[in-house]
Amino acid sequence: MTTNVKTDLFGLFAHEIAKQIKPLGLQAYRGKQIAEWLYKHNVRQFEAMTNIAKEWRTSLDNSFTITQVNRKAAQHSADGRTSKFLLAFPDDMAVETVLMRHSYGNSVCVSTQVGCAMGCSFCASTLSGLVRNLTGGEILAQVLYITELLKQEEQKIDSIVIMGSGEPLANYDNVLRFIRLVHEDYCLNMSYRNITLSTSGLIAQIDKLAGEGLPVTLSISLHAPNNPLRTRLMPINARYPLEQVLAAGDRYAAATGRRVTYEYILIAGVNDGPAQARELITLLKGRLANVNLIPINAVPERGLLRPAAGDIIKFEKLLQNEHINVTVRREMGTDIAAACGQLRHKFVRMVTFD
Ligand code: SAH
Repeated sequence: MTTNVKTDLFGLFAHEIAKQIKPLGLQAYRGKQIAEWLYKHNVRQFEAMTNIAKEWRTSLDNSFTITQVNRKAAQHSADGRTSKFLLAFPDDMAVETVLMRHSYGNSVCVSTQVGCAMGCSFCASTLSGLVRNLTGGEILAQVLYITELLKQEEQKIDSIVIMGSGEPLANYDNVLRFIRLVHEDYCLNMSYRNITLSTSGLIAQIDKLAGEGLPVTLSISLHAPNNPLRTRLMPINARYPLEQVLAAGDRYAAATGRRVTYEYILIAGVNDGPAQARELITLLKGRLANVNLIPINAVPERGLLRPAAGDIIKFEKLLQNEHINVTVRREMGTDIAAACGQLRHKFVRMVTFD
């Protein structure tokens, strides 16, 4: 007896689906029909694909599967604007997905890996290392889970941030598949400009991304204005030091015409003083760049605490005075620990779930 491992169609492009179903005798245009059912109508059973004859549906069902996600936990911020979900895949691996309802639209934050190998000292996602990469379909499934939820309120997703757990550029091919899929007209037709990818600064992959010809917004996690401090916070800096990361950011901006955002977590007494603000100004002056200051979601176990409100404003003002484009991230969902990895970490420790 041979075991019949079914191919998963979810996460494939229409032309790839067409190729898969050809041996069953289905014509090429059926590939797009199935893609629309999967990605536009969020259907997860072949049985429900009513523009395909019943016999075909049965033979599709015998040959293929469709990724399902299963919600394991949910948390909502007190103001109701941020919702965080722990979504599990068939192997029971779970990741966090966050919905943020801004005044300018709905944004969803997706994870790209289960865990993370980068080892940043302030980040909960990396505490147990990298477990596995997500497939393009699994990244897309997170977005479509939120789409379905918003449909009930007659709302939609306006932007996507690839900033959940994981290092997206360490899972390059799957992340690119996701970005291209979500842009397809048979999927969400999402504009590349409304997709932001955040990286800890993998230089070769930043250059590769710049060469793809996709105007995706790039966000680089800087978090420190000099190499010794950055290496202490982000071990990857030993391999890809600050100046090289900034040079890669410049090349990305030149290739895409898109301003790069530098994320800078503010940590009390670590990187939030006037001296560091001045170092940051020296680094960024004259660059096509924005700075996004993020008051840290505290990691008390590691002594990493949020600066006082006055210190945050002082840091921002110093940058503004030198005409650096700077914003302080609006605090969304701090009451539910919306920083990446925090829900999964809690869940893994079996502390909280509904
Ligand atoms: N690996 C990628 C994307 C995931 S992290 C990256 O490094 O950019 C997404 C953002 O959340 C990063 O800027 C990261 O530094 C930030 N982050 C991680 N832990 C945080 C914390 N405790 N408080 C605030 N932001 C945090």
